[in-house]
Amino acid sequence: MMKRLGWTIIIATCVGVTILPADEIPKKNARPKLAVLLVFDQFRGDYFERWQDLYGEGGFKRLLADGAWFTNCHYPYSDTLTAPGHASLATGSTPSRHGIVANDWYDRIKGATTTSVEDERYQLLPAPPKTTPGASPWRRREETIGDVLLKTHKMGKVASLSIKDRSAILLAALFAQICYWFSIEQGIFVTSTYYRDQPHNWVTAFNRARPADRWTEDFWLRMMPNLDYAKHTGPNSGAQGIGYEQGSNFPHPFFRAKEKSDKDYYSAVTNSPMGNELLLALAKRCIEAEKLGQGADTDLLCLSFSCNDLVGHCWGPDSEEVLDVTLRADRLVKDLLDYLDAKVGAGKYVVALSADHGVCPIPEVTAKLGKKAGRVAPEALKEKAAEALQESFAKDQKKLPWIEASYGPWLYFNRATLKEAKVTPAQAEKTVAAALAKVPGVLASFTRTQIQDASLKGDPLLDRLRLSFHSANSGDVMIMPRPYHIISGSITSPKAAAYRTTHGSPHAYDTHVPLVVMGPGIQPGVRRERVVPQALAVILAESLDLPPPSGAIAKVPPGVWMKR
Ligand SMILES: [Zn+2]
Repeated sequence: MMKRLGWTIIIATCVGVTILPADEIPKKNARPKLAVLLVFDQFRGDYFERWQDLYGEGGFKRLLADGAWFTNCHYPYSDTLTAPGHASLATGSTPSRHGIVANDWYDRIKGATTTSVEDERYQLLPAPPKTTPGASPWRRREETIGDVLLKTHKMGKVASLSIKDRSAILLAALFAQICYWFSIEQGIFVTSTYYRDQPHNWVTAFNRARPADRWTEDFWLRMMPNLDYAKHTGPNSGAQGIGYEQGSNFPHPFFRAKEKSDKDYYSAVTNSPMGNELLLALAKRCIEAEKLGQGADTDLLCLSFSCNDLVGHCWGPDSEEVLDVTLRADRLVKDLLDYLDAKVGAGKYVVALSADHGVCPIPEVTAKLGKKAGRVAPEALKEKAAEALQESFAKDQKKLPWIEASYGPWLYFNRATLKEAKVTPAQAEKTVAAALAKVPGVLASFTRTQIQDASLKGDPLLDRLRLSFHSANSGDVMIMPRPYHIISGSITSPKAAAYRTTHGSPHAYDTHVPLVVMGPGIQPGVRRERVVPQALAVILAESLDLPPPSGAIAKVPPGVWMKR
């Protein structure tokens, strides 16, 4: 096979046209045996071009050369976070429809913050020593590509694996047969009793070997010791985090975290490229054990590599650490594609790669370059809002509990307090939005009433916010930070050790992500038109001869398929 292909390439090069043997001519109706939905968590749209010269053969380069590469792909909504990103990629929809507005939000019925996937009706499996709620996809209100696949191809399988629970669960189908993520409490991969009563035997065997324990005496070192990392990164402002006793510069030890606690050690593993390696090892085991792409029907494998996100939060997108985790991601993709070639067969699978969001440079790095940048403290927003309401509606009276909860850029009013003080929600919203708009670093503030008033048109920020808003889950007033500003506590807070920058805004550094699809019948080439990442779901659906998921907002871009 290799020899024949080699000759084909030589002949094609000589005559200047691509001539493939008849049995290798890709056709759209040759349905792939396996679809791979590949997500790199926090992978900005410029990383492919920025480090193009540093990638090896067979990884990103292969995808970019043999696939349709959309260089101008942006999320259309404002709150660019992990859970909304994964739910949007899988459903082809927006948070306004699928309801996953953030990673966590305030649940008014429960009277507490909830994560996007926690579900107390279930338990984690294997169960951790400390009671932790289980998880399920019930909050996602739209069907995914996996749901459509299972409805149509009864013998098909959907497997979804990630380091993060929300990423695995939100990418998967409602009734995915295989769904696992990594527990930093236990150092093993877990699922939820929502999916199964017992972990699969191959997962139990994988866990029993304790692969995550392999680095306890080790360091995270640069993958390419002869490459001048500093030349390809920077500037370095000295504002990088230290992670979990890992330090702000290479080499990053694991043993210091291990000395502190097992949880710190496993957190350090996921806050390094080693977590991605673990996931790849599990993915291979899954393909092998479940014979994905090797059965009678079509299967879907969703893989979300989370470590790029954690490393990016800690050391920032201009760091040597993000360069290293990206170079290693390139090698990991080569390893995965080689494995798929061997197990499923080259040309018999389709791979779609994207990301859930980009990232803002560390504000201190941007400030060093002379641009305006900074941090907007969430606590300050909450205080300012409460002060404004007290001043406007209960001046010189005892302090009232105006704000019930806040999450990220969102504030949730205490509706009982408003009622008691005879203040309408619209009055309160207006007062708070006006006060927050004056906070340094705030670009704009919006209210629930404005978002729900369809007659307010023509504000591009409001339009994007509408796509992030779900009336049951979103709050009452929200702010958008100015470019290069992030909602974040002080850089000296304990959380900032591993969390120095973030994402979640409608600015291009957060919305811009890669989109590449490679598979039978896909026309290779660089595509410069603006698209949304949700196009991934509809392209994958069409490639598998499936209808698009019912909430899909995008169409298949013209010219994606080779002409037959
Ligand atoms: Zn993140």
